[in-house]
Amino acid sequence: MSRATTGGRHFLQLPGPTNVPERILRATSRPTIDHRGPEFARLTHELLEELKPVFKTKGNIVIYPSSGSGAWEAAMVNTLSPGDKVLMFETGHFATQWKEVAERLGLEVDFVPGDWRHPADPAFVEAVLKEDRNHQIKMVGVVHNETSSSVVNDLAAIRKAMDRARHPALLMADTISSLGSLDYRQDEWGVDVTIGGSQKGLMLPPGLSFNGISDKALAASKTARLPRSYWDWEAMLGQNKSGFFPYTPATNLLFGLKESLAMLREFGLENVIARHNRHGEATRRAVRAWGLDLVCQDAKAYSSSVTAVMMPPGHNADAFRKLVLEQFDMSLGSGLGKLGGKVFRIGHLGDFNDLMLAGTLCGIEMGLALAGVPHNKGGVAAALEYLTGAAAHPQATTA
Ligand SMILES: *Cc1c(COP(=O)(O)O)cnc(C)c1O
Repeated sequence: MSRATTGGRHFLQLPGPTNVPERILRATSRPTIDHRGPEFARLTHELLEELKPVFKTKGNIVIYPSSGSGAWEAAMVNTLSPGDKVLMFETGHFATQWKEVAERLGLEVDFVPGDWRHPADPAFVEAVLKEDRNHQIKMVGVVHNETSSSVVNDLAAIRKAMDRARHPALLMADTISSLGSLDYRQDEWGVDVTIGGSQKGLMLPPGLSFNGISDKALAASKTARLPRSYWDWEAMLGQNKSGFFPYTPATNLLFGLKESLAMLREFGLENVIARHNRHGEATRRAVRAWGLDLVCQDAKAYSSSVTAVMMPPGHNADAFRKLVLEQFDMSLGSGLGKLGGKVFRIGHLGDFNDLMLAGTLCGIEMGLALAGVPHNKGGVAAALEYLTGAAAHPQATTA
């Protein structure tokens, strides 16, 4: 079989880009409008208000026509100065990439080593910041949901650690694969800059990114000296006041964003988060029943949007993914960076339901058999049993 002969819908089970619902695709197919006209201005004002409950912030939000990586750069060039010290944690591939962006911008990164299987330790954050008596560290950067390893960092605990150390550094969170899928609270958790993207929990095609900006971050932007032009918050916020952008926005993706936010409101964000929690737990039960190892080794840090799975030694994860694509027309996430070939990742976020998860897990279980990967049967059955039990309690979390 091949993509040409399987029929039916492609299963896009990456942890992003995710399956884009028909409603959103249709919304993006409207004719493009004048981005300096009155209809566009109304759309901008509505979007900027409607995004706030998703970030759980009352602060400013800016929308860039860029992939998520642009929002990393935007967050740093707007708030930091050449040579500033920043504290970041090696929780996986995306944390490593973000750190490399910081280095290329001329920041001095204290990169706390990690094994890609555990979250950052808040007690360690507190200790480092207490040592930094002259407050040379200007920013603590944390990937909320480390998509490469399916490890979630406890941002609320990291904020508390920063407060205990009475340290004024800004807290930045990469929520590119958690916004709109995992519990996230910018204001309550004291996050100064939220970094987001369109193509994961928000169910949009790739091409939009976000900065959620606290008052403290906005104040820092007044004196920050890293060069900035395209990403400049001041130009963006200035134009946004009248509903416009400093350059041509991604108009049709903004139509899609309007639809995505309507869908999240109709479902109820809390129900969406509970659904992701159920699907995360069901997936982990399948993986355990197969006898395979999760990359994440801390049960408190399991991700509800993606599950990274270790391939047994002697078996190549990319060969397995290729077989699953050819046989079942399903794309699974690859191992990234040093996990290349050793790990496959199951995306279970965005526009997703119980039967899509069941189909995804069936494809994996059949793929394991066809690829001759040693495993136990019954992963799908374990997941279905959990889903059936938890279906009676749709609010159930990861119990
Ligand atoms: C996907 C992702 C990125 C990169 O986003 P792009 O849109 O590919 O630039 C960064 N961080 C995290 C946590 C991600 O999941």
